[in-house]
Amino acid sequence: MGRKRHLDDGPAAAMPARADDSEVVPTESLGERAYQVALRPQCFEEYIGQRDLIDNLRVSVQAAKQGDWSLDHFLLAGPPGLGKTTLAHVIGNELGVKVHVSSGPAIDHKGMLASLLTSLGEGDVLFIDEIHRLQAVVEENLYPAMEDFKFDLFIGDGPHAKAVTMKLPRFTLLGATTRMGLLSAPLLDRFGFHWQLGYYELDEMAAIVERSAALLRIGIDSAGAVEVARRSRSTPRIANRLLRRVRDFAAVEGDGTITRAIAASALDRLRVDHAGLDALDRSYLSVVVERFDGGPVGVDAIAASMSEERGTLEEVVEPFLLQAGFVTRTPRGRMATATAFRHLGLRPPGRVPSGGSMQGKLF
Ligand code: ADP
Repeated sequence: MGRKRHLDDGPAAAMPARADDSEVVPTESLGERAYQVALRPQCFEEYIGQRDLIDNLRVSVQAAKQGDWSLDHFLLAGPPGLGKTTLAHVIGNELGVKVHVSSGPAIDHKGMLASLLTSLGEGDVLFIDEIHRLQAVVEENLYPAMEDFKFDLFIGDGPHAKAVTMKLPRFTLLGATTRMGLLSAPLLDRFGFHWQLGYYELDEMAAIVERSAALLRIGIDSAGAVEVARRSRSTPRIANRLLRRVRDFAAVEGDGTITRAIAASALDRLRVDHAGLDALDRSYLSVVVERFDGGPVGVDAIAASMSEERGTLEEVVEPFLLQAGFVTRTPRGRMATATAFRHLGLRPPGRVPSGGSMQGKLF
């Protein structure tokens, strides 16, 4: 079986730990997390890509600062590693307020929510990652906090319990989710806007690689940066990880500078192919193509064949394969495209869809 990529790479990962046999995409260790944090852009200026989103946010942040009101609550949606947590910190920095970070699974009872909310200062940002995984009772108590900046507490037990309403400072809730479809309608309604982060284009990815290399004082030429970018699944977090691995090869086998040839040979050896697909992606494609004849096939059947969790496939593997045109979704299930057949070195049968429009942009 292929190596695994992690569902939860966020600040408060709470999925069960999973075995990992990969050098390339390890369980996010403390060292890895610190490394990613060190590379985080600090302000809008440094945040590469997602231009529409950034332009709109600039206006909202400027308006909040001028009008002296708190920024609206926003929901940030998109696959892991695209920059949701980074953006929450950038927004906090731009507003000049403190960012408090938590996650849906970490807020496991009402008391935990109460202590988070009462620690907020006026105008602060509360970032809740994986917000679709909040428990219903916690979520219900979040509504009055979001709407009216108040929180209902019961003091005491039984017949003597007294309801007390606490006034909270005006704060901004930034929710992040990899599964917008799992958010309840009442929670969705309470966000002023929902932003979908998109995969990065090749030139943006190359700029991210060059920026990270400069921060880490790694020598890289522009063709080397493009090669690392091309193989990073259009995802900044993966680019940063691969950059570190490739640097090791450049130091040992070259003169320390990452060139296109060094990047390509290092990434081949790390089993990241020229389209950026890793063993898990390729295993998904070969199950659909070889075992299910190209589909259509349901995600549960694919997950069972791969001995993989359905959630991992839906949240981590499929979004990129769909976006890059290797797979399509039909009412009867997933279908491999002609691009996927060719990627596996097979001739596509005439009946399969041709492939995605993103190919040109991403690769
Ligand atoms: P998410 O919260 O969506 O899982 P993160 O915000 O943790 O993703 O981003 C992962 C890493 O990728 C960050 O540490 C940061 O270094 C890098 N990164 C993300 N978005 C950008 C961007 N737009 N520009 C530069 N680097 C980025």
